[in-house]
Amino acid sequence: MPTKTDLRDDIQHHLKYSLGKDAGHAQITDWRLALSYAIRDRIVDPWFASTRATYAQKGKRVYYLSMEFLIGRLLEDAVVNLGLMDEAEAAFKANDLSLDDVLGDEPDAALGNGGLGRLAACFLESLSTIGCPAYGYGIRYEHGLFKQSFHEGRQIESPEDWLTQPHAWEFERPEAAFRIGFGGSVEELGGKTVWTPSEAVIAEAFDTPIIGWEGRWANTLRLWAAKPEQVFDLDRFNAGDYYGAAEPENLARTISRVLYPDDTTDEGKRLRLKQEFFFTAASLRDILRRFESEYDDLELLPQKVAIQLNDTHPAIAGPELVRLLADEKGMPVEKAIEIARGCLSYTNHTLLPEALERWSEGLMRDLLPRHMQLIEEIDAAHARENPSRGVTMTDDGDVLMGPLAFAMAHKVNGVSALHTELMKETVFEELHRLHPDRIVNQTNGVTPRRWVLSANPRLSALITEAIGDGWVDDLERLSKLEPMADDKTFRDAFAAAKRANKADLANYLGDRGTNVDPDAMFDVQIKRIHEYKRQHLNIIETIAHWQEIKDNPGAGWVPRVKIFGGKAAPGYVFAKEIIHLINAVAEVINTDADTGHLLKVAYPANYNVTLAERLIPAAELSEQISTAGKEASGTGNMKFALNGALTVGTLDGANVEIRDLVGAENFFLFGMTADEVVKRREVEGHAQKAIDADPRLKRALDAIRSGTFGPGFEGIVDNVSGPDYFLVASDFTDFYRAQREVEKAYADQDAWTRMAVLNTARSGWFSSDRTIRGYMRDVWYSEALAAE
Ligand SMILES: *Cc1c(COP(=O)(O)O)cnc(C)c1O
Repeated sequence: MPTKTDLRDDIQHHLKYSLGKDAGHAQITDWRLALSYAIRDRIVDPWFASTRATYAQKGKRVYYLSMEFLIGRLLEDAVVNLGLMDEAEAAFKANDLSLDDVLGDEPDAALGNGGLGRLAACFLESLSTIGCPAYGYGIRYEHGLFKQSFHEGRQIESPEDWLTQPHAWEFERPEAAFRIGFGGSVEELGGKTVWTPSEAVIAEAFDTPIIGWEGRWANTLRLWAAKPEQVFDLDRFNAGDYYGAAEPENLARTISRVLYPDDTTDEGKRLRLKQEFFFTAASLRDILRRFESEYDDLELLPQKVAIQLNDTHPAIAGPELVRLLADEKGMPVEKAIEIARGCLSYTNHTLLPEALERWSEGLMRDLLPRHMQLIEEIDAAHARENPSRGVTMTDDGDVLMGPLAFAMAHKVNGVSALHTELMKETVFEELHRLHPDRIVNQTNGVTPRRWVLSANPRLSALITEAIGDGWVDDLERLSKLEPMADDKTFRDAFAAAKRANKADLANYLGDRGTNVDPDAMFDVQIKRIHEYKRQHLNIIETIAHWQEIKDNPGAGWVPRVKIFGGKAAPGYVFAKEIIHLINAVAEVINTDADTGHLLKVAYPANYNVTLAERLIPAAELSEQISTAGKEASGTGNMKFALNGALTVGTLDGANVEIRDLVGAENFFLFGMTADEVVKRREVEGHAQKAIDADPRLKRALDAIRSGTFGPGFEGIVDNVSGPDYFLVASDFTDFYRAQREVEKAYADQDAWTRMAVLNTARSGWFSSDRTIRGYMRDVWYSEALAAE
């Protein structure tokens, strides 16, 4: 229920009284902050009303614990969800400013690496849209994911600084602070177990309200910042030791200083474990405090509190909740385990063995001595309950966070149908046999408010004109578009919207040095750079295609723009070589006079949420080409299908479900299945065999090796023709074939548009609203409320 004051007056008010600026001298950032405060004012009432309703109706609260929230910009989301786009536009027009420029001034909050963090952000928005009482809990990193630029084709990283400007969305809560300890010793004192940490920091809360569609409900994202217990050592300062005096502060702040720039391996183990415990422990204390303000019977906890662990990063929540209930509240340990399990559930995101978290027992005992004891007790209790078991929670001197999270959760979910089945057969095979009701599937989704309504206004307007605006929070209504796939007028309008989005993107790329033809096919692969995602398969196929075109430029080729986007973890050498190769290939191909009108490669730097919002609406072909069995779900794939891009992809993750829904005839399938991948790896010399069988592949690899794109790419060629764990060579031939099928289909533009319409019409199931309703029903047992 937005207040009835005039937005334009409120912007002027904040410009003057919150920012101390005169309209004549205000910069774009001043205007953006003024709008942000004016919008924030309109969120506060629904936010309070949501909290009041939750208390009044004694609602169950959901707590989503995640190391990452890849939020992107918040202002446009809030303006859109409050239905204030037109009013905001008018307000700025009166001051000769464009709303787009104002919105575009906001830094992109990148408190996450990729899909896992973006999922958390989509979930927050859906939880609010649905009216599910919820908190997101995470870390207020001072520096989010690094900024990427290219120098001579190589990735350069620089620190991200989203907090250098005032952050208009958050409210600091100095009163919501907890002391979080590390290290020290454990003693038995008067029949009680007491952990006395040797060091401690303060976790201080910063709250950001997250408003749902039409402003009906708002939840809170609560991020913890680490502060020193004692800001400043005055004795050391007075003794002239100025650096030493600031040491406590520096040590504490390190914990919330940076996001780990990798979601698959862990560096700086000790600090990473500290971060994990820091935010998990602060969140649990906050949860218990809120619970105890309403109820005095801790046995009610599972009825009133659902805690979702986004991957194992917060899996220390199991032992910590047991510790709080047993050591601090006096519950027997076995009972505490049962109550904790009633609250906790865990989402698995990966089957990659190197990405399953393990912590050395020595480190765990040193940093969290009581937790190490409790992990042993949880393990022992699990062994007593399952006498035949082989699985343990420790192995070879390491604590295994996956099995620990599994044992402490009442539900464990996979993120796509295929991933969930593979989980049952691989990582959690035995645990699944012991607890056959525990694993459930909740296929990921994306919020249509951001990924269709605001990212693609042209398509949104067309959809609303055709079927009304009910689709925005009931995305399966997109199916009403299905009959319009056969309506020529609708198809033309759909194609015109795509063409206009492509022209916008062509301008953007042109401004950054790559001129592309907006009538060429826009073929897009954007995601973290990783061997399993196989950007190298894509660029090698591009080379092979270029060579074919060069042989015979007049053969009626379909012009194509190959667009890449994505960052490599700073320590991931192979991924960085792939980036370098893509840029090197772009340099050669884009300046080739024979082929320039037929093939271009564009790699805009610094892929993030904002860039994704620009690229996806303009995409016609979505590259989802991971080695089958390796991509847990993907969410990029869903964003593309919703925006009318056709997928070329493997049977991996949610691609399987996308293909089932949009129809096999509207999806370009290629490659081995997960089962075939496992068998193929057994074939001696599989890569070389594939290369020997396909002269195009051989020729492309030879070109790379011989230096056509410059020196330094032997590593990639050696890998692809040697171990080739991700089976680039073995899937190449079928990928090449599929790409030619794509071109054949694209040549009939009208038929292509029909397929594109059907992709949009049949992808409504991939709304994160559907995913959240699934969690509420199967995992959290929670209900939506209406704000009062
Ligand atoms: C959606 C999204 C992702 C996830 O993409 P996948 O293709 O599923 O890996 C990563 N980064 C950003 C910025 C996104 O918006």
